[in-house]
Amino acid sequence: MTNIVGHLINGEMCNDATRLQDVFNPSTGEVSKQVALAANITVAAAISAAEQAFPKWRNTPVQKRARVMFRFRELLEANAETICKVLGEEHGKISHDAMGELNRGIENVEYACGAAELLKGEHSKNVGPNIDSWSEFQPLGVVAGVTPFNFPAMVPLWMYPMAIVCGNTFVLKPSERNPSAALYIAQLLEEAGLPPGVINVVNGDKEAVDCLLSDPRIKAVSFVGCTSIAESIYSKANANGKRCQALGGAKNHAIIMPDADLDNAVNALTGAAFGSSGERCMALSVAVCIGKEAQTAFIKKMTLAMQPLKVGAYNNPDNDFGPLITQQHQLKVSSYIESAVNEGADLVVDGRDIEVPEHEQGFYIGATLINNVTPEMKSYQEEIFGPVLQVMCVDTMEEAMKLINDHEYGNGTCIFTRDGEAARYFSDNILVGMVGINVPLPVPVSYHSFGGWKRSLFGDLHAYGPDAVRFYSKRKTITQRWPSAGVREGLQFAFPS
Ligand code: NAD
Repeated sequence: MTNIVGHLINGEMCNDATRLQDVFNPSTGEVSKQVALAANITVAAAISAAEQAFPKWRNTPVQKRARVMFRFRELLEANAETICKVLGEEHGKISHDAMGELNRGIENVEYACGAAELLKGEHSKNVGPNIDSWSEFQPLGVVAGVTPFNFPAMVPLWMYPMAIVCGNTFVLKPSERNPSAALYIAQLLEEAGLPPGVINVVNGDKEAVDCLLSDPRIKAVSFVGCTSIAESIYSKANANGKRCQALGGAKNHAIIMPDADLDNAVNALTGAAFGSSGERCMALSVAVCIGKEAQTAFIKKMTLAMQPLKVGAYNNPDNDFGPLITQQHQLKVSSYIESAVNEGADLVVDGRDIEVPEHEQGFYIGATLINNVTPEMKSYQEEIFGPVLQVMCVDTMEEAMKLINDHEYGNGTCIFTRDGEAARYFSDNILVGMVGINVPLPVPVSYHSFGGWKRSLFGDLHAYGPDAVRFYSKRKTITQRWPSAGVREGLQFAFPS
């Protein structure tokens, strides 16, 4: 009998086992457990718990709220090995990659530890006779987060530490494909001293998300996932009067300039294209070479760099990357490779026939290199989300930038060059939210916010960092006068100025 992953509501683990879904160990292809898919009544119970916890939590001094985050941070470090094992079992991440994910999550908790400073507000004295004015940040109430499979620890940590430290209470709906890490980490947060009901985790699918979107007690929704769902969540949340930020998919290009340090570029791109099996929204999945010479040299060096790559189960730290999340996704990635070939691209390295001894049923695809990809190909237009690097060639940097600017996604991009002027022009004019200059994965640190442009993000505010303070709070501006005793001011009908 497999065990069942349930929910955390009001400080209690619970389980509504009416609908269950298999959770796989992608490294072996076996079902390891089942996840309970929350029914409406369970989601409503989580929202009620969060609503009841809100008044007291909102009035808890900010420094005390932050102290919980300090303890939470220590518990995350102390339990890092367990968390990484869970990430490996359900996602397939190798331990070094899982640790990288967790560390990035911990950085967001560290940022939340500074809430007292972040929430100080603004004050102006004597804005008029005996009048002072100040702005303060007040919490919204109950807010929700809906997160994807590819960062089961980090993406929830982008959201709730800041939401909670700002005085909100939270309902998290993690990915049903790997639900255990988020549940385990939320329990650590309670162990750190968070009162019951401030964080609640409901596992589930579309039914749970629809329930969060339609419940008027939810004041804001943070979503991360694919673009089609991000767009629909954003419009539903807005139609229901909720604040929403919905981060979507990506197609991240790297420009290889003729003057680039090619060895470094190939090295950086190998990790950025194939790391985590390409299941990263910041994965560099397209290399655009400027000129045939750069393209030929790049393909030659990249082919060599790919030969020693080791693909296999999460629990062998010598492996470079692991399996894809499900068999369905494995088939989808394969079909993109096939479609590129059918549309005329050149398959230089084919990862589809990879064999991983003792794990023949795992959901593996090896590193794949496709050359001479063109803009009208389906594999170029859509997000593959697998260990597939596609290579294109254009004559000038302007043409490469036009390709990137014309693409529907605008999450991340990078230029490899030794030319400072070109790099500066590129970063200034490219229509992408996160830009790297000789940095392949320009994921902002926790004190800068994260977000793409175009159809990679719906909403105005980016995730974590300073934008999170704005997203998870409402600004209120108070203007105050204490007239001197006995002084009467004249009647005024003109607009005060
Ligand atoms: P997904 O969109 O399938 O799922 C994300 C969440 O939405 C899950 O919790 C899922 O249960 C829920 N969901 C699924 N279908 C739904 C529906 N019809 N209605 C409401 N909710 C629904 O995404 P995924 O496959 O888990 O994750 C991969 C995607 O996430 C990729 O497109 C990747 O680029 C994107 N992603 C983006 C970022 C970013 O910061 N922009 C970060 C990580 C992942």
